[in-house]
Amino acid sequence: MRSHQDWVQEAAKATLHTRPFIGGRFVEAGQATFENRNPATGELLSEVADTGAAGVDAAVRAARSTYDSGVWSRAGMRFRRERMLRFADLLADHAAELAVLDSLDMGKRVADAHDLDLPFSVDLFRYYAEAIDKINDEVAPTPPGTLGLIRRVPLGVVAAVIPWNYPVDMLAWKVAPAMAVGNSVVLKPAEQSPSSALRIAELAVEAGIPEGVLNVIPGLGETTGKALGLHPDVDVLAFTGSTEVGRYFLQYAGQSNLKQVWLECGGKSPHLVFADAVDLAETAKHTAAGIWFNQGAVCSAHSRVLVERSVHEEFVSLVAAEAASYAPGDPLDPAAGMGAIVSPEQTDAIMRFVDEARDSSARLVTGGERITRDGSDSYVQPTVFDDVDPTSTLAREEVFGPVLAITPFDTEAEALALANDSAYGLAASVATGSLGRAHRLSEQIHAGTVTVNGVDAFSAWTPFGGFKGSGFGRDLSLHALDKYVGLKTVWINH
Ligand code: NAD
Repeated sequence: MRSHQDWVQEAAKATLHTRPFIGGRFVEAGQATFENRNPATGELLSEVADTGAAGVDAAVRAARSTYDSGVWSRAGMRFRRERMLRFADLLADHAAELAVLDSLDMGKRVADAHDLDLPFSVDLFRYYAEAIDKINDEVAPTPPGTLGLIRRVPLGVVAAVIPWNYPVDMLAWKVAPAMAVGNSVVLKPAEQSPSSALRIAELAVEAGIPEGVLNVIPGLGETTGKALGLHPDVDVLAFTGSTEVGRYFLQYAGQSNLKQVWLECGGKSPHLVFADAVDLAETAKHTAAGIWFNQGAVCSAHSRVLVERSVHEEFVSLVAAEAASYAPGDPLDPAAGMGAIVSPEQTDAIMRFVDEARDSSARLVTGGERITRDGSDSYVQPTVFDDVDPTSTLAREEVFGPVLAITPFDTEAEALALANDSAYGLAASVATGSLGRAHRLSEQIHAGTVTVNGVDAFSAWTPFGGFKGSGFGRDLSLHALDKYVGLKTVWINH
């Protein structure tokens, strides 16, 4: 296991790419750039190209021409599988380098990026590579003398627009399934975290994936992201990010070519804790991880805890005691409990929620302070508010930071009503020792994933996504492939 010092040395060696990667190489973009700063120190890391509309067009044209050439889209399954497996191996070989890039760009604990994010992405590329030759098309029942084939065909050019909270994983969640079925991809990473995606594009070519299959265009949302959303030659746009920006992509599709749009958006996931929970102390650990892991910047962060009144006080104390293990520190230090918040602006936004909650009837149990360290004030203590009014801003809006809202309840019916009273429906967790209650609630809670006696479970093999304002479509699992293929019916009269 690497020490703090090892990671500091690894970070000192980091090379940050700044230009778009189009058609297999880094290219010049226009004059526009934006600053990439390390939130942990405020230091300027790089000046990154804002690719802009002309660059977006060049990237889409490169993707289209590679797609049309058939060098990937019509390549043999074995060719695609082997190249993707080689790509996965290269990602694994470069895990430390990529983990450092994410940590520097957006402030997460490098140990988490290295030990969790990277292995997940590597597995995901392997999973979809191995799926390539294991999914059959269909033959429909048709009258004698005819044959009806139902084929799954790649759609062409897939655009992916992703957020900053898991830069490598969000890339893998979109790129691996899209690429596996033969599409070419144009990916726009978040402006806060462009570096790992640009390096990964280079590794794809090194792995033998044909030039133009994976193009990465850094840039701002309102310029580069919008130009991609409006581009008339993009067939599918897969978006992960806020609900607010997700709405724009639906509009862009309507204003341009009716490209298919898939949205994975925000959440306000509830954790329902019942007095019959098997182990309340263990449940408090789940609650803590559910809100403080990755500084709370998790779409499915369980930011609302609904707890049965008879164990309410005890449970609040147990959760508050967990806060000590999540004290913010240098993201390059494996001993840090949390890293830095992605930017001073995001920290301001989090503190606005904290300040509003302080002025409300809610009770601050622990945390609530912004911290300055290493010349940066982008750190926030793990924070708990209790007795939060379920109609308040803190109970209803996504904070995307380490702030937990606890609300007591008296009956299962009340807990269920509170859980479902949300604009979101991404995930939910239930702590109970009752099998009947576990089944009842997992059936009735309106969320894409319900975890019983744990928090926020997910895997490469199970679908992940939401209902309502959390979007639609599913990442991960074989179901994600459906987003990147079209069904084609072929009739043969013989
Ligand atoms: P964001 O919506 O601000 O940005 C996401 C992406 O959209 C970025 O690449 C950004 O540059 C781009 N963008 C922003 N404005 C745009 C515009 N006007 N036109 C086109 N593109 C634009 O989100 P964020 O702050 O990067 O990430 C946090 C959000 O992502 C949270 O809401 C979180 O819940 C969500 N998220 C969801 C999932 C999921 O699987 N459901 C996973 C991770 C994060």
